[in-house]
Amino acid sequence: MRPNIADIPSPPVANKAGGSLFDLAELGKGVFEGSPDCVKVLDADGHILAMNRNGLCAMEIDDFRTIQGARWATLWTEENRQAIDSAVIAARSGRNYTLNLACPTAKGSPRWWAVTVSPIVGDNGEVARILSVSRDITEARFATEKVRVSEERFRSLVTATAAIVWGTPGSGQFDAEQPGWAAFTGQLFESMKGLGWLDAVHPDDRQKSATLWNEAIASGTMYETEHRLRRADGQFRHMSVRAVPISGPDNTITEWVGIHTDIHDRKESEAVLRDNEERVRLATESAELGLWVWHPSTDQVIWENARPYEIFGLSPDAPPITARQFLTDFVHQDHIAEFGHAVANTIETGARLHFQGRIRRKDGQIRWVEFFGNLQPHLDGDPQRIIGTVADITGSKDREEELRRLAANLSEADRRKTEFLAVLAHELRNPLAPIRHGLQLISTQVGNSETLIKVRDMLDRQVNQMVRLVNDLLDVARITSGKVELRKQRAEIGDLIKVAIETSLPLIESSKHRLTVTVPDESMLVYVDPERISQVISNLLNNAAKYTPAGGAIKLQVSHDDSEVIVSVTDNGIGIAPQSIGAVFDLFRQVGQDFERSQGGLGIGLSLVRQLVELHGGTASAESPGEGGGSTFMIRLAMIDAPAATVLGAENSPRVNEAKNMRILIADDNIDAAEILSLMLQVSGYTTELAHDGHAALKLARDLHPDVAFLDIGMPGMNGYEVAKALRNIPRLADITLVALTGWGGEQDRALSREAGFNHHFIKPVDMKVIEKLLSEIAPRRA
Ligand code: ADP
Repeated sequence: MRPNIADIPSPPVANKAGGSLFDLAELGKGVFEGSPDCVKVLDADGHILAMNRNGLCAMEIDDFRTIQGARWATLWTEENRQAIDSAVIAARSGRNYTLNLACPTAKGSPRWWAVTVSPIVGDNGEVARILSVSRDITEARFATEKVRVSEERFRSLVTATAAIVWGTPGSGQFDAEQPGWAAFTGQLFESMKGLGWLDAVHPDDRQKSATLWNEAIASGTMYETEHRLRRADGQFRHMSVRAVPISGPDNTITEWVGIHTDIHDRKESEAVLRDNEERVRLATESAELGLWVWHPSTDQVIWENARPYEIFGLSPDAPPITARQFLTDFVHQDHIAEFGHAVANTIETGARLHFQGRIRRKDGQIRWVEFFGNLQPHLDGDPQRIIGTVADITGSKDREEELRRLAANLSEADRRKTEFLAVLAHELRNPLAPIRHGLQLISTQVGNSETLIKVRDMLDRQVNQMVRLVNDLLDVARITSGKVELRKQRAEIGDLIKVAIETSLPLIESSKHRLTVTVPDESMLVYVDPERISQVISNLLNNAAKYTPAGGAIKLQVSHDDSEVIVSVTDNGIGIAPQSIGAVFDLFRQVGQDFERSQGGLGIGLSLVRQLVELHGGTASAESPGEGGGSTFMIRLAMIDAPAATVLGAENSPRVNEAKNMRILIADDNIDAAEILSLMLQVSGYTTELAHDGHAALKLARDLHPDVAFLDIGMPGMNGYEVAKALRNIPRLADITLVALTGWGGEQDRALSREAGFNHHFIKPVDMKVIEKLLSEIAPRRA
């Protein structure tokens, strides 16, 4: 049932004249029902007399009778009833009263009300009724609450972010305290106001920041930059800055809200990261390492730098090769299994990946590569991956191979040298036994001239053999240490052959070999050290004689082509097995060791042959059909066309007789050596004097004025050089011929003796023939 205003006994309404101008009751009813608010009429004690329809609706009261006559305060919640009572009391005493209160509807919906309570005065001037108008302000109230909550949230956010939040009016100048800014920078309002805040910005960033700020203000667009801001402790911190304009209803900017976020730590760690990356990049670049990442589950490969492209010979725009492609298209067959094992082992055990192998690059080159890798376990669902490096190790592999080869060669050379020492000892001991026996015979068979002649010949042979051995050894030492000196001159090859044959003939004849020599009847000139090349040919002849059973055939042939003279020595002896032929020229190499050793040597003859020939720019080679098939040794030397200026062979015959009256001084601390030389010279008719140290030599020379002095270099007291110098300072001895006798024959040694005043430099043991020749040349000058 709806209440009806007509039901309320209304107080009479009169105009000032006391007459009724219009129907006030009707008007009242209209206003009462038409009001959007909840309008109630109460009696003076606050009991509800009437309530309009909108009011019932707003309060969700279905039937007015349920509240009719009830005390108004009872409609309110407990805590508000007193306030309502106070309002009623105020109205009853003639005052208007307003209050804002919460009160749920009859059905419990929360509502806020703005309540105005006013007295209705009756004719008697007394407050007859009370009018209560409650306006539903719930929505407005919620909106305000929302704003409050949102502001509260914003404030907590700002406090929580440790960012600086600031605000300025539309002018962009600080005009009020900025607590965040002040707390961070330590700037007081006095210094930050206006654009004073720019003082806290790093001088290098200040200009840019100010310019951008002015542009933002002018254009009304967001201000966004980064700069360093001085913190209260003086440290500059990197800040990210943003400010947004807020516009008023007329679209002019009324204020700016800005935020400075401290990004210093992030910037620093970014810089550290960048620096780390740069270092890794530089290190891997300088080590020429390729960096890769591989996902085994998908076989996806990422190359982190350009190096892998170079290593695999691919263009930089090609996709990286996958493990599958590596196996099918690149890696050498030999390494496929190894690669598979290495990868499987890493995936299964987490052990470091290591693989070395050959690949064939796209351009066909074969290279060695080496991979290292580490397994990175699952990271938050990331698939497992292996990260590693790849390097081209072809260079170091080659060096490794070279070193291995050198080591093998060295140990082979070492083995041969040890073997050689054993052979050498044997070879040197061999002649000693006959020599000792020969000496015994000489003392017991003094009168037996037949025996003595045999003994002499035997001693001669044995000593020659030893001299040959020692000379060969010295030659090897000289060649190996690069000290050999070639005295090159033009020579007819035929003359060199003659000398070689003369040297080797005794050996060839002693084995009853037949020697056939074929030399074309034409001039063949070579530019060589004649002594050395004769030695080479004689070596080949000696070998042919040694390695051919008695009664063999030896052929020496000389021929030439357009540019070279070819000398070959062929025998029908024991031959050389095919597997040994390549090694016969190696030092200390003896391939047919079961052959009679007394015929043998030291395994240095052929090495000398090759080295001497090569020193002359020629070549030496060997051929043999195999064991028992004989051998051919061949040397080739460049031929020259011009006729020889000096051709060997035109020797002067010694004029021994003219020398007989010459006086010769021999100085050597090796008494035996001195005495033997002296004896030989005496036998040849010379007069000799002996000294065994430098001082004695000098004294004898002064006293006796010899024609020739043979001086040993290494003597006690004064050495040979010193004696020679002293002699050269004695004018009266100016014509004396000084001959150095020494074991040292290097160019430096010769220069030293020239400097000391020696005329000749002879190397021990000196052949008697050489000495005779020298003396025979001096004799005519002395006569
Ligand atoms: P040596 O004769 O002192 O042993 P060489 O250097 O002259 O040393 O020779 C090396 C090796 O080559 C000899 O030991 C021998 O086995 C082999 N050889 C040299 N010449 C001949 C040859 N004419 N016939 C067969 N084998 C030879």
